[in-house]
Order: sequence, then structure tokens, then C-alpha cells
Amino acid sequence: MSAQKTYNIRCPKCGQEQKVELYESINVSQQPGLKTALFENQLNRIQCRSCDTSFRIDKPLLYNDPDRNILIHWIPDNAVSREEILDDFDKSMEELRAVLPENIEPPRVRLVFTRAELVELIFIIEAGMEERVVEYIKYTIHMQNPGRVPPATKQLLLNVQDSTADELLFAVQNTETLELEEILRYPRPAYHGVKDMYRKNPEEFRELFPGPYISARAALMEEDCGEDG
Ligand SMILES: [Zn+2]
Repeated sequence: MSAQKTYNIRCPKCGQEQKVELYESINVSQQPGLKTALFENQLNRIQCRSCDTSFRIDKPLLYNDPDRNILIHWIPDNAVSREEILDDFDKSMEELRAVLPENIEPPRVRLVFTRAELVELIFIIEAGMEERVVEYIKYTIHMQNPGRVPPATKQLLLNVQDSTADELLFAVQNTETLELEEILRYPRPAYHGVKDMYRKNPEEFRELFPGPYISARAALMEEDCGEDG
């Protein structure tokens, strides 16, 4: 089931308040149209009744794809810090594990902080790619190009749709402006090489990206903090 809730929202342009229905969770097996709305940046987008301004409300959203047994929590870090979100998330995951029957395979649970990350992850999963392999490749791109894609200010996003049999395309996103600034190309055969490494030794990858937020940039930032402190 998808779920909606009513909110009182104030227009960022003219200040007019209005009651709107926003999605709390979407089940894309039952309502694939909601996935399309998400991709087209129309989900939880409203139009002011007074001045016609259209704007998107970023609020926590649960993306549920039962056919692929995956749950992705999108928790925007506009109100609370990522550290607090991660702490709360760990607690609720423990509670969930405690109540799940043992004979049921628990869904894969992922956490993302932005809509771009959510859309990227859905494409990766639907393409049958391994997300930790993708993040490992980003990790090496960051390491090899510290001047061009410093993890402190740039995030790499895989563009699955425009990637080809020969090349994976990564968009470089500025983490402050959220603008996509350039495209980096990575040879697809090298992806298969990393995937073989993953098949042989998945533990190493899980150690680097334990989840629920699987991110090369976050792993690199954490290493940096460790070195400083
Ligand atoms: Zn307005």
C-alpha cells in the first residue's frame, strides 16, 4: 500500500497556506505511476492555489518495491543532521528485526538523503547492477582525481540510462548547489573486473560500505575525519 497524509504547507513565494496530501510511502509494484512521478520530479510537488508557484516538498519517503524485496528510505537532511538520521535509523532497524518472524527473508533496506540518490539507486537495482561495486568504482575515481572530484564538495552519481556497453557515465554533482557539473566516463569492462573482485570477496566490500547508507563519498569523508582526529 502507498500512504498519504495531509499537511499544512506554506508557499515559499507568497506565504499562502494550503492543505495538501503528501506521500509518506509508495508501493511501486501496486502503483508504478508513482515511480514515474518520482523520476519526473512530480512526486510530492504541489502548486500554490494563490500564485501558481510549483514547488516540491522534501520529506521522509519510504520507497517500497516488494517485487524486488527492497525498501529504500529517503530521509532528507534538511531538518536534522545525517548523524542523527543514521542513529535513529539504526534504532528503528533493530526494532524491526526484533519483530520480524524468522522464516521471512527480511527486505534489503537502504537509506538515501537526496532524491538524486534515490533515483540513482532505483536504476542501479533495476539494471541488476551491484550497488557496492558501483560505489567502489566511485571510491577509486575520487581517490585518483582528488583535485577534480574532492569528496568534500563533489558527489558522483551513476547515470545508468545513458551508460553504454562500453562506458559507464558518472555525473559530478556539486554537493552545495546540487548542480550537475560534468560527466566522467569509466570503462564498462573495468566494472566487470571489480564485480569479479566482489564475487570473490564480498566481505571486503561490506566492510567498506556496511550500509544502510552505501556511499563512496561518505566512506571517504569518514576516513578523512579519522585521520584528522
Ligand atoms: Zn504562492
